[in-house]
Amino acid sequence: MSKALRLEPDRPKSILLIDIDGISRQIPEALIESTRKHRLVITHTFSDGMLCQKQNRCDVILLACNTLKNLLPKIISKLHNFQPDVPIIILAPDLKDDEGELLIQSNALDYVSISEYTTDTLSRSIRYAFHSSEQLQIINELRDSDSMTGLGNRQYFLRTLESSLESIKTSGNKLAIISLDINNFRALNNRHGQHNGDTVVIELGQRIAKNITDTSIAARIGNDEFTLLIETSPFEDVKQMVTQMLNRIIHSLNQPIQYGNVETSIKCSIGISLAPEHGYDPEQLVHRAVLARQESKKAFDTRYTFFSSELEDSNDLYSELAPEIAFALRSNQFVLHYQPQINLKTGQIEGAETLIRWNHPERGLLYPDSFIPICEQMGLIVPIGYWIIHQACHDLNNLIREGIHLEHLGVNLSFRQFGDENLVPTIERILNKTKTDTSILELELTESTLHDDQDHVISCLESLSEMGLSFSLDDFGTGYSSFSMLQKLPIDTIKIDRSFITDVTVCDDDAEIVRAIINLAHNMGKKVIAEGVENQDQLDFLVSHNCDIVQGFFFSRPVDFETFKHTLLKCSDSVAV
Ligand code: C2E
Ligand code: CA
Ligand code: CA
Repeated sequence: MSKALRLEPDRPKSILLIDIDGISRQIPEALIESTRKHRLVITHTFSDGMLCQKQNRCDVILLACNTLKNLLPKIISKLHNFQPDVPIIILAPDLKDDEGELLIQSNALDYVSISEYTTDTLSRSIRYAFHSSEQLQIINELRDSDSMTGLGNRQYFLRTLESSLESIKTSGNKLAIISLDINNFRALNNRHGQHNGDTVVIELGQRIAKNITDTSIAARIGNDEFTLLIETSPFEDVKQMVTQMLNRIIHSLNQPIQYGNVETSIKCSIGISLAPEHGYDPEQLVHRAVLARQESKKAFDTRYTFFSSELEDSNDLYSELAPEIAFALRSNQFVLHYQPQINLKTGQIEGAETLIRWNHPERGLLYPDSFIPICEQMGLIVPIGYWIIHQACHDLNNLIREGIHLEHLGVNLSFRQFGDENLVPTIERILNKTKTDTSILELELTESTLHDDQDHVISCLESLSEMGLSFSLDDFGTGYSSFSMLQKLPIDTIKIDRSFITDVTVCDDDAEIVRAIINLAHNMGKKVIAEGVENQDQLDFLVSHNCDIVQGFFFSRPVDFETFKHTLLKCSDSVAV
């Protein structure tokens, strides 16, 4: 029998020989010689072996030990738990059957008796170990990978995060955990079908994979939810690395994604937590990245946010309010307030904006900034949005019965309501049921609405416009709408955002912007409403620049319906300007 080992030659493999009793001197030269084809690493203590495996993992561990027979099961278990997918072969003194069995139970793959081994038996055992290590690798890759995108999966991500968190405690390295998902993915899936939704997810996965650094990993951990892990040395600026990488990913998203005849650009929300800055607990770090991502979701565009402790505070409010919202809707806790709008030519109240409030049984009157984003995230903005339209129609009819005529009544529409397939027929049903004079209703859209699936939004607006509704563009100037886009849409009114009005009399830039918006809007045949007018100087500026309508605390805060009606009845002669 030949004493030469015939190991598989296809790929250089490596063996770690932990030779506790110096047995390797007794192992014939042939073994050492043949394993030179592969990489043979020899250590003489168990702890050196562990260290060696940690730094430079070998494919197979050969544990040779003559004297510590009783300790062997313990040592094997430790090695196995450390790296479960590395096969372990034992070269041991003569063992009784039950002793050998104990080694196998402790997760050794095989054992060979030192006194009886032949190179052939050892060779076969090592070949078998290499083979099983390859099989294990394949199984692990399958176990760890997400079949749709080929990236890692949730278990893989959490395991890697856990071991990275453990190792940065000694290395001083830093980690960033990034959570990313697609804005309005559910609507995309509903509108274009799950197959196309999958295409978008796969494409996003590829763009992420192309743009991450060598020291990062990416995984898909939910439908359209990805997580990334970046590791930097103690001397690198982790925030800067994250920013650079995310900018590359965001840039790659500018390129539209094509499926079937549809071309769409995807917008994502991204949140980041850092270790050790935000803790060492893997689940908490992922949760904190998700909280930061939810903050980014408030904007429609792709945006990233780093975790901060304030986000946790607002999340406490989220967890407290979220479960109550559906009940609040059923039990009529929401109310509409009305803020008058004054025509600057006539000085009369000619319209109003409806603003929702939550009459919370314990917390008192809550303002929309504290609960509308929660409703949007939970999808509850859709039924609440219909309640708002229904209530506004009901109140409008009430005014008409009192002989009060408004030119327009603004009702805010969240961009997320366009994700509802039934938006148009449901609004139509409400209008018919309440027999509302549609020419008075003006739906207030934000610029983010127009960045969603534009064809869909335009077709909804056209259908609603055919029913007699008109539209205004809210918070104008804060987003990215262009005037050319405005021309394409059935929008009658532009509402200049309050942030420009605040300093319009002290900041030349703001004054210039307000002047330009009024002029351009008028050239396009659109009306202009200035929001947030709080003092006489702002009003004078707007009067002198031909603004059409104003609204703000200078005239009235939003008030409940009865107060609003009372005001209209009392001064039906107008509010003098
Ligand atoms: P918005 O549509 O821009 O509403 C105008 C906000 O500015 C209102 O805040 C109003 O109270 C406030 N405001 C008006 N005049 C002044 C002023 O002179 N000074 C100052 N400092 N603020 C002024 P509110 O009621 O807290 O609403 C905040 C936001 O919540 C609204 O911003 C809108 O985006 C959203 N929202 C309110 N009601 C609804 C609703 O029925 N549906 C939806 N989807 N969103 C709503
Ligand atoms: Ca508004
Ligand atoms: Ca506004």
